[in-house]
Amino acid sequence: MGKWMIDKEFSFAMAHRVWNQVLDPILSNNSPSSCLRIHGHNVIVRLCISSDHLEKAMVIDFNEFKWFKKFIDDVLDHRTILDLNDPLLKLQIPEFDNFKLKKHSEGYFTIDEVFESPYDEFYTSFVLVDFVPTSENFAKWFFDIATEKMKPWNIKVEYVDYLESPSSRARYTE
Ligand code: ZN
Repeated sequence: MGKWMIDKEFSFAMAHRVWNQVLDPILSNNSPSSCLRIHGHNVIVRLCISSDHLEKAMVIDFNEFKWFKKFIDDVLDHRTILDLNDPLLKLQIPEFDNFKLKKHSEGYFTIDEVFESPYDEFYTSFVLVDFVPTSENFAKWFFDIATEKMKPWNIKVEYVDYLESPSSRARYTE
């Protein structure tokens, strides 16, 4: 039986630190481990879904990806995404131990405190995840979020592509 696949691209700007980076000297031509530094990317995410039947001549309307765009825009865009297990987390988030964390249903955390400006803008810039923020892990995270979200509509997520640069892509599929 055939099926239809549709996909849509989303973009956001983020900063992260791959705290566990160790490069193989042979494969990397002795490159420095520059991902140990906090640095940024303009990320492209491509979400591909499929169905073996159409509703109103569509898999879903392209407008029905807007929930995902809202998640990207509201939660991740212009944020610093750090791993809760980063051994230098407390250097990057001053007074971290004094704050409560709020866990969100998609599996990320934010600092659950009320701050005055300019501290508000600073502390709301952090999104904490329980994984090393590599392209591979982001691709699976988005895949799992989309799979859960689309379940009631019987929509299958085919893959998520995560491009941290135009030439560097991680894909997760099942
Ligand atoms: Zn990076």
